[in-house]
Amino acid sequence: MARVVGKSAAVIKRVTCNRCSSILEYLPIEIMVKVETDYCGGKDIIRYIRCPCCNSDVRLAVNQQAVPFPIFRSGSDESLSG
Ligand SMILES: [Zn+2]
Repeated sequence: MARVVGKSAAVIKRVTCNRCSSILEYLPIEIMVKVETDYCGGKDIIRYIRCPCCNSDVRLAVNQQAVPFPIFRSGSDESLSG
């Protein structure tokens, strides 16, 4: 069976709690998700962690990678010969 030998700091991120100014470290596994309805009636997916100091929800920045960018396939018009 696989064993955990340590935690990589590469995936640890930091966020500041706007309520109590605590600097928090979190792992992706600790991120919680909830769906809120905005004033337009649309659904927003909120990613947050719970501040262990003041027990409030700390919103995390929206992941830029959530928006897919167009993938351009390599052109098939180019001739490899000659
Ligand atoms: Zn806090």
